Amino acid sequence: QKPASMPPAATVPCQYRTGKTLGSGTYAIVKEAIQISTGKYYACKVINKKLMEGREHMVRNEIAVLKRISSGHRNIVTLHDYFETAHNLYLVFDLCTGGELFDRICAKGNYYEADAADLVRTIFKAVKHIHDAGIQHLTDLKPENLLFKAQAEDADIMIADFGLSRVMEEEKLNLLTEICGTPGYMAPEIFKRTGHGKAVDVWAMGVISYFLLAGYTPFDRESQQQEMEAIIAGDYKFEPEEYWQNVSETAKDFVRTCLTVDPLKRPTAGEALKHKWLADEQPHFVEQN
Ligand code: ADP
Ligand code: MG
Repeated sequence: QKPASMPPAATVPCQYRTGKTLGSGTYAIVKEAIQISTGKYYACKVINKKLMEGREHMVRNEIAVLKRISSGHRNIVTLHDYFETAHNLYLVFDLCTGGELFDRICAKGNYYEADAADLVRTIFKAVKHIHDAGIQHLTDLKPENLLFKAQAEDADIMIADFGLSRVMEEEKLNLLTEICGTPGYMAPEIFKRTGHGKAVDVWAMGVISYFLLAGYTPFDRESQQQEMEAIIAGDYKFEPEEYWQNVSETAKDFVRTCLTVDPLKRPTAGEALKHKWLADEQPHFVEQN
């Protein structure tokens, strides 16, 4: 038995050595990890097994699904490896070194509309890929979970968090969101507890699009209670005017469509991709003859 004061071993079982912490989210700590045999860097997500007590089989099943889905898409972080110890799960993903979309929005203030449309289109295509594979919804689609693969301005955007939390114990998760989460990106039907599915991701994409265009989120209120009430009522505006005067009606219409309160009337990911704002993909480089 190790004395309690001893730090935990810094080696992920088998063949990785973990380094600095990259971030932490609702239920995981993510660390940089080097594969000893190759010297290659990865991101290792460490999840405490206490969060999935009694649901281990569901989590393992979910991990198998993630592995299959993630290896098939350029904008979804690939799950490379997976280990378990008595206390933790270790998920080894592609390392994204470009930081969170959240931080880029904050640094920029907001995105130019065409750049915002490009990002939203790319993320929506990845969301559609996940929905088409039969996954009901991503628990946590928000700018903290969208990472840039590299530091370059034009680096690929990646969905980095599928929300394994879907299969974690719901009560514990509710508690966790109360402590550290904001309802900001959650769809009205989640609060109404009328049942929810893929449509929550389209709502979240509406909030993300709004955030990209304006630099702030639509349902920000004094308290979480007020924020929740605003979401349920779909109560938001394209204001103050100074942040929206240069944004096209088409973009606003896109946001409005995604933020349809009734999930049955909300577009699917496929339908959203056909909206005029996303449909006319502009070529970035005009070929010169
Ligand atoms: P949680 O499910 O607990 O929210 P996340 O998967 O969102 O955990 O990871 C938490 C944070 O860790 C992210 O917001 C991000 O900053 C960082 N992170 C996650 N995955 C990666 C990755 N593949 N590469 C680099 N950083 C990552
Ligand atoms: Mg997260």
